[in-house]
Amino acid sequence: MRLRNKPRAAGEIAANSQYITTTPAEFKGQWQSKFAQAQPLSIEVGSGKGRFIVEMAKAHPERNFIGIEIQPSVAIMILEKQLVAKLPNLYLIQADGGDLTDFFAENEVAQIYLNFSDPWPKSRHAKRRLTHRLFLAMYQQILQPEGSLQFKTDNRGLFEFSLISFNQFGMQFKELSLDLHADDVPENIETEYEQRFSQMGHPIYLIEAQFNA
Ligand code: SAM
Repeated sequence: MRLRNKPRAAGEIAANSQYITTTPAEFKGQWQSKFAQAQPLSIEVGSGKGRFIVEMAKAHPERNFIGIEIQPSVAIMILEKQLVAKLPNLYLIQADGGDLTDFFAENEVAQIYLNFSDPWPKSRHAKRRLTHRLFLAMYQQILQPEGSLQFKTDNRGLFEFSLISFNQFGMQFKELSLDLHADDVPENIETEYEQRFSQMGHPIYLIEAQFNA
Protein backbone atom coordinates (compact mmCIF):
# COMPACT_ATOMS: atom_id res chain seq x y z
CA MET A 1 0.00 0.00 0.00
CA ARG A 2 1.56 3.29 -1.11
CA LEU A 3 -0.22 6.46 -0.11
CA ARG A 4 0.56 9.98 -1.21
CA ASN A 5 2.78 11.66 1.34
CA LYS A 6 0.69 13.59 3.84
CA PRO A 7 2.65 16.65 4.99
CA ARG A 8 0.73 16.73 8.26
CA ALA A 9 1.83 13.21 9.25
CA ALA A 10 5.09 14.07 11.04
CA GLY A 11 3.43 16.83 13.09
CA GLU A 12 0.46 14.66 14.03
CA ILE A 13 2.77 11.86 15.16
CA ALA A 14 4.97 14.22 17.19
CA ALA A 15 1.91 15.76 18.89
CA ASN A 16 0.57 12.40 20.07
CA SER A 17 3.48 10.67 21.78
CA GLN A 18 1.09 9.13 24.31
CA TYR A 19 -0.14 6.90 21.45
CA ILE A 20 2.72 6.65 18.93
CA THR A 21 6.50 6.84 18.68
CA THR A 22 9.08 7.06 15.90
CA THR A 23 11.92 6.14 18.28
CA PRO A 24 10.93 2.70 19.58
CA ALA A 25 14.47 1.63 20.53
CA GLU A 26 14.14 3.99 23.53
CA PHE A 27 11.48 1.73 25.01
CA LYS A 28 13.17 -1.63 24.48
CA GLY A 29 12.39 -3.86 27.46
CA GLN A 30 9.97 -1.26 28.92
CA TRP A 31 6.91 -1.40 26.68
CA GLN A 32 4.59 -2.30 29.52
CA SER A 33 5.05 1.26 30.84
CA LYS A 34 3.08 2.49 27.80
CA PHE A 35 -0.09 0.72 28.90
CA ALA A 36 -2.62 1.05 31.71
CA GLN A 37 -1.74 -2.47 32.92
CA ALA A 38 1.12 -4.94 32.42
CA GLN A 39 -0.37 -7.74 30.29
CA PRO A 40 0.84 -10.10 27.53
CA LEU A 41 2.09 -8.07 24.57
CA SER A 42 1.08 -8.77 20.95
CA ILE A 43 2.57 -6.92 18.00
CA GLU A 44 1.59 -6.60 14.35
CA VAL A 45 4.22 -5.76 11.74
CA GLY A 46 2.83 -3.79 8.77
CA SER A 47 -0.48 -2.69 10.28
CA GLY A 48 -1.60 -0.61 7.30
CA LYS A 49 -4.71 1.41 8.15
CA GLY A 50 -4.99 -0.49 11.44
CA ARG A 51 -8.40 -2.17 11.44
CA PHE A 52 -6.95 -5.45 12.77
CA ILE A 53 -4.88 -4.06 15.64
CA VAL A 54 -7.58 -1.62 16.77
CA GLU A 55 -10.32 -4.27 16.74
CA MET A 56 -8.03 -6.81 18.47
CA ALA A 57 -7.31 -4.28 21.22
CA LYS A 58 -11.05 -3.67 21.65
CA ALA A 59 -11.83 -7.40 21.70
CA HIS A 60 -9.01 -8.26 24.13
CA PRO A 61 -8.71 -5.75 26.96
CA GLU A 62 -6.73 -8.44 28.82
CA ARG A 63 -3.84 -8.11 26.34
CA ASN A 64 -1.65 -5.20 25.20
CA PHE A 65 -1.09 -4.46 21.49
CA ILE A 66 1.46 -2.58 19.41
CA GLY A 67 0.89 -1.85 15.72
CA ILE A 68 4.02 -1.16 13.65
CA GLU A 69 3.74 0.70 10.34
CA ILE A 70 6.63 2.06 8.31
CA GLN A 71 4.82 4.76 6.30
CA PRO A 72 3.98 7.94 8.27
CA SER A 73 0.99 8.73 6.03
CA VAL A 74 -0.46 5.29 6.76
CA ALA A 75 0.51 5.22 10.46
CA ILE A 76 -1.54 8.36 11.08
CA MET A 77 -4.63 6.54 9.82
CA ILE A 78 -4.22 4.12 12.76
CA LEU A 79 -3.42 7.02 15.07
CA GLU A 80 -6.63 8.77 14.03
CA LYS A 81 -8.61 5.63 14.95
CA GLN A 82 -6.86 5.52 18.32
CA LEU A 83 -7.53 9.22 18.95
CA VAL A 84 -11.23 8.34 18.77
CA ALA A 85 -11.08 4.99 20.59
CA LYS A 86 -8.44 5.95 23.22
CA LEU A 87 -7.77 2.29 23.98
CA PRO A 88 -5.58 1.89 27.09
CA ASN A 89 -4.06 -1.33 25.68
CA LEU A 90 -2.96 -0.04 22.23
CA TYR A 91 0.25 1.74 21.25
CA LEU A 92 1.74 2.47 17.81
CA ILE A 93 5.20 2.54 16.29
CA GLN A 94 5.97 4.36 13.05
CA ALA A 95 9.24 2.76 12.02
CA ASP A 96 10.74 -0.10 10.02
CA GLY A 97 9.67 -3.44 11.50
CA GLY A 98 12.88 -4.89 10.01
CA ASP A 99 14.66 -3.64 13.13
CA LEU A 100 12.57 -5.51 15.69
CA THR A 101 15.46 -6.73 17.82
CA ASP A 102 16.44 -3.08 18.36
CA PHE A 103 12.90 -2.34 19.56
CA PHE A 104 12.05 -5.33 21.76
CA ALA A 105 14.02 -7.22 24.39
CA GLU A 106 14.36 -11.00 24.40
CA ASN A 107 11.06 -12.66 25.37
CA GLU A 108 9.24 -9.32 25.57
CA VAL A 109 6.53 -10.33 23.08
CA ALA A 110 3.82 -12.99 23.49
CA GLN A 111 2.41 -13.01 19.93
CA ILE A 112 3.39 -11.66 16.51
CA TYR A 113 0.91 -11.00 13.69
CA LEU A 114 1.78 -10.53 10.02
CA ASN A 115 -1.25 -9.67 7.91
CA PHE A 116 -1.15 -9.42 4.11
CA SER A 117 2.53 -8.54 4.11
CA ASP A 118 3.98 -7.17 0.89
CA PRO A 119 4.69 -10.25 -1.30
CA TRP A 120 7.90 -9.05 -2.99
CA PRO A 121 7.32 -11.52 -5.88
CA LYS A 122 10.74 -11.19 -7.57
CA SER A 123 13.13 -13.83 -6.24
CA ARG A 124 15.93 -11.26 -5.94
CA HIS A 125 13.71 -9.51 -3.34
CA ALA A 126 13.00 -12.67 -1.28
CA LYS A 127 15.01 -11.34 1.67
CA ARG A 128 12.51 -8.48 2.02
CA ARG A 129 9.58 -10.84 2.65
CA LEU A 130 8.58 -10.63 6.32
CA THR A 131 8.51 -14.44 6.52
CA HIS A 132 12.09 -14.86 5.23
CA ARG A 133 14.37 -16.73 7.63
CA LEU A 134 16.25 -13.51 8.41
CA PHE A 135 13.01 -12.12 9.90
CA LEU A 136 12.17 -15.43 11.58
CA ALA A 137 15.48 -15.26 13.46
CA MET A 138 14.44 -11.83 14.82
CA TYR A 139 10.95 -12.98 15.76
CA GLN A 140 12.46 -15.96 17.59
CA GLN A 141 14.60 -13.66 19.72
CA ILE A 142 11.82 -11.38 20.91
CA LEU A 143 9.06 -14.01 21.27
CA GLN A 144 8.47 -15.81 24.53
CA PRO A 145 9.10 -19.59 24.27
CA GLU A 146 5.38 -20.41 24.24
CA GLY A 147 4.57 -17.48 21.91
CA SER A 148 3.44 -17.86 18.32
CA LEU A 149 3.58 -16.18 14.94
CA GLN A 150 0.32 -15.82 13.01
CA PHE A 151 0.38 -15.02 9.31
CA LYS A 152 -2.51 -14.32 6.93
CA THR A 153 -2.34 -13.66 3.20
CA ASP A 154 -4.33 -14.04 -0.01
CA ASN A 155 -1.10 -14.39 -1.99
CA ARG A 156 -0.52 -18.02 -2.95
CA GLY A 157 3.16 -17.50 -3.77
CA LEU A 158 3.91 -15.80 -0.46
CA PHE A 159 1.90 -18.45 1.40
CA GLU A 160 3.91 -21.29 -0.17
CA PHE A 161 7.20 -19.46 0.42
CA SER A 162 6.24 -18.90 4.07
CA LEU A 163 5.23 -22.53 4.65
CA ILE A 164 8.63 -23.67 3.39
CA SER A 165 10.46 -20.94 5.29
CA PHE A 166 8.74 -21.80 8.63
CA ASN A 167 9.28 -25.51 8.06
CA GLN A 168 12.98 -25.14 7.18
CA PHE A 169 13.42 -22.99 10.30
CA GLY A 170 12.12 -25.92 12.38
CA MET A 171 8.91 -24.19 13.44
CA GLN A 172 5.92 -26.23 14.61
CA PHE A 173 2.59 -25.58 12.92
CA LYS A 174 -0.35 -24.93 15.26
CA GLU A 175 -2.99 -23.86 12.71
CA LEU A 176 -3.18 -24.01 8.95
CA SER A 177 -6.02 -22.91 6.69
CA LEU A 178 -6.27 -22.83 2.91
CA ASP A 179 -9.59 -20.97 3.08
CA LEU A 180 -9.96 -19.20 6.40
CA HIS A 181 -13.38 -17.75 5.70
CA ALA A 182 -14.82 -21.16 4.85
CA ASP A 183 -13.31 -22.76 7.96
CA ASP A 184 -14.98 -22.67 11.34
CA VAL A 185 -12.54 -20.56 13.36
CA PRO A 186 -13.39 -19.22 16.82
CA GLU A 187 -12.19 -15.66 16.13
CA ASN A 188 -11.04 -13.95 12.97
CA ILE A 189 -10.69 -10.19 12.97
CA GLU A 190 -10.44 -9.07 9.36
CA THR A 191 -7.89 -6.58 8.08
CA GLU A 192 -8.62 -3.95 5.40
CA TYR A 193 -6.80 -6.04 2.77
CA GLU A 194 -8.58 -9.20 3.89
CA GLN A 195 -11.98 -7.55 3.44
CA ARG A 196 -11.03 -6.30 0.00
CA PHE A 197 -9.54 -9.56 -1.30
CA SER A 198 -12.17 -11.86 0.16
CA GLN A 199 -14.89 -9.71 -1.47
CA MET A 200 -13.03 -10.34 -4.75
CA GLY A 201 -13.37 -14.08 -4.10
CA HIS A 202 -9.75 -14.78 -3.09
CA PRO A 203 -9.28 -17.53 -0.49
CA ILE A 204 -7.48 -16.35 2.64
CA TYR A 205 -4.57 -18.49 3.85
CA LEU A 206 -3.53 -18.67 7.50
CA ILE A 207 -0.53 -20.15 9.28
CA GLU A 208 0.08 -20.09 13.02
CA ALA A 209 3.41 -21.51 14.10
CA GLN A 210 5.72 -21.68 17.11
CA PHE A 211 9.46 -21.75 17.44
CA ASN A 212 9.34 -24.05 20.46
CA ALA A 213 6.61 -26.64 20.61
N1 SAM B 1 -1.88 -5.42 7.34
C1 SAM B 1 -2.68 -4.49 6.56
C2 SAM B 1 -3.89 -5.18 6.00
O1 SAM B 1 -3.89 -6.42 5.98
O2 SAM B 1 -4.83 -4.49 5.59
C3 SAM B 1 -1.84 -3.80 5.47
C4 SAM B 1 -1.30 -4.67 4.39
S1 SAM B 1 -0.26 -3.77 3.24
C5 SAM B 1 -0.10 -4.84 1.89
C6 SAM B 1 1.34 -3.94 4.00
C7 SAM B 1 1.66 -2.81 4.96
O3 SAM B 1 2.89 -3.13 5.61
C8 SAM B 1 1.86 -1.45 4.31
O4 SAM B 1 1.09 -0.47 4.98
C9 SAM B 1 3.35 -1.19 4.45
O5 SAM B 1 3.67 0.19 4.55
C10 SAM B 1 3.68 -1.96 5.71
N2 SAM B 1 5.09 -2.41 5.80
C11 SAM B 1 5.81 -3.00 4.82
N3 SAM B 1 7.05 -3.28 5.25
C12 SAM B 1 7.10 -2.86 6.55
C13 SAM B 1 8.12 -2.86 7.53
N4 SAM B 1 9.35 -3.35 7.27
N5 SAM B 1 7.84 -2.35 8.75
C14 SAM B 1 6.61 -1.85 9.02
N6 SAM B 1 5.60 -1.81 8.12
C15 SAM B 1 5.85 -2.31 6.90
